[in-house]
Amino acid sequence: MGYIRGFLEFDRKENPKRDPVERIKDWGEYVMRHSDEDMKEQSARCMDCGTPFCHTGAEWDRDMVGCPVNNLIPEWNELVYDGQWKEALDRLEETNNFPEFTGRVCPAPCEGSCTLAINDDPVTIKSIENEIIERGFDNGWVTPNPPQHRTGKRVAIIGSGPAGLAAADQLNQKGHTVIVYERDDRAGGLLMYGIPNMKLEKETVERRVHLLEEEGIEFKLNTEIGEDVTYEELKRNHDAVIVCTGAQQPRDVPAENRESQGIHFAMEYLTESTKALETDPQKTPISAKGKNVIVIGGGDTGADCVATALRQECKRVVQFGKHPASPEDRDEDNPWPLFPMTYTLEYGYKESLEAYNEDPRKYEVLTQSFQTDDEGNVTSLNTLNVEKVVENGRLVTKEIPGSEQEWEADLVLIAIGFTGPEPELLEHMGLETDERGRVWTVDGTKDYTTSEPGVFAAGDLRRGQSLVVWAIREGREVAEQCDAYLEKDSSLKSSFAV
Ligand SMILES: Cc1cc2nc3c(=O)[nH]c(=O)nc-3n(C[C@H](O)[C@H](O)[C@H](O)COP(=O)(O)OP(=O)(O)OC[C@H]3O[C@@H](n4cnc5c(N)ncnc54)[C@H](O)[C@@H]3O)c2cc1C
Ligand code: SF4
Repeated sequence: MGYIRGFLEFDRKENPKRDPVERIKDWGEYVMRHSDEDMKEQSARCMDCGTPFCHTGAEWDRDMVGCPVNNLIPEWNELVYDGQWKEALDRLEETNNFPEFTGRVCPAPCEGSCTLAINDDPVTIKSIENEIIERGFDNGWVTPNPPQHRTGKRVAIIGSGPAGLAAADQLNQKGHTVIVYERDDRAGGLLMYGIPNMKLEKETVERRVHLLEEEGIEFKLNTEIGEDVTYEELKRNHDAVIVCTGAQQPRDVPAENRESQGIHFAMEYLTESTKALETDPQKTPISAKGKNVIVIGGGDTGADCVATALRQECKRVVQFGKHPASPEDRDEDNPWPLFPMTYTLEYGYKESLEAYNEDPRKYEVLTQSFQTDDEGNVTSLNTLNVEKVVENGRLVTKEIPGSEQEWEADLVLIAIGFTGPEPELLEHMGLETDERGRVWTVDGTKDYTTSEPGVFAAGDLRRGQSLVVWAIREGREVAEQCDAYLEKDSSLKSSFAV
């Protein structure tokens, strides 16, 4: 414990944020870094409570408790308070391969489980984590660290999202030769094309990928397994395969005139918008400039679409969610130390409020149909309001008669989630799937072995759409199992039964 009275003397202080009206004029990150003094005070708030729920990383049914990668939070809080940043970095790197990603985009289940959060605001764990790794880069402490020896074993990793990158890092450190196959033109998965620059600048992703390359990991970009390289070829040239291709099959809105022009899936829009930043941000094939934009889907992907549309100078953006607004305080069935399901004002909503004087979120709205002009371009959409009511002891969603509404729309973005992994590769490889289309593994929670010998699976592909921090954890765990498999059998190519 750094300072015994810290939690009594200092209030929680969030990282400073750039002015919402100014920041929508560019694509830079909106969160700024804390000063030295603030960092000392914020780390001093850690009580070193003895049973740090913040670090547990447990799942209870669908609830999360603490940090999924089991970061040693109280230990690094004390080191930061004492100014021992290098030692704090050493502790952080023991559990998290990429703290610069989680320090920026993690929803921080650790903070919901912080003991101080029982009756006060939690410690700012996420921003301390980010500051530790950024100081590591600033001071030149994060340098390539290639393994001392090579085992001669070759591992193919399909997909370069956080799960694939974490698995690659771990196996490379064990001395295996790791080749990452990625169908996109840049590595990073949803860290690169998905999460927008305002939350995670792409230089930060590339900085890590370059480091991994310097440590000996080979990246084969623009290479789709199942199209450019077959599974048979992979088997011939590697001792094991890890599949980390995510769960990016989008869920659609089955409404009349869905096929009209101007209606796109969120991922198509976000990917093109990020790619355009390399040349001219306004020259993206799906631009919101001057348009009435409607985002269907009240989740985080929808929030990222709102923030992106604002930066493309849309005329107006609204976002439909089918659920009511979250409560200000925890509900009775959502107690500490579970992840708090409470109201938050995401960055894009604050920007819309301040720059356009409107909260874009419209709650309990269902899309019924789209209208088009003579050329098939979307012009508006019709909605109906719904409400949650208790019927026969069960909570059900009911339509509200007479609540029909028409909304002007030139661009509609569908962000109602993902049904699971894209099926083509899994069919090509002959991998068994579960009832939700996810890759089946021997024990759905702790084992990463698939139905194919020598083939492992991790990340969203296995657990369904989740979080960066869970993908990192799965990447670390699958690497451990893959390494044990490689150690056990020195002639694994034969076990592939080519
Ligand atoms: C818009 C959006 C915003 C998000 N924001 C956050 C956030 O703020 N915080 C957070 O914690 N989580 C966020 N998430 C979730 C998070 O990004 C994912 O849970 C995480 O990236 C999953 O990692 P992964 O490695 O399993 O898969 P992915 O990141 O999806 O990577 C899979 C990779 O596999 C590649 N691939 C697929 N098929 C093939 C093939 N046949 N051959 C070669 N390569 C292939 C894909 O191109 C992709 O690069 C967000 C998700 C979305 C969609
Ligand atoms: S990775 Fe996420 S849950 Fe873990 S300490 Fe960092 S912010 Fe908290």
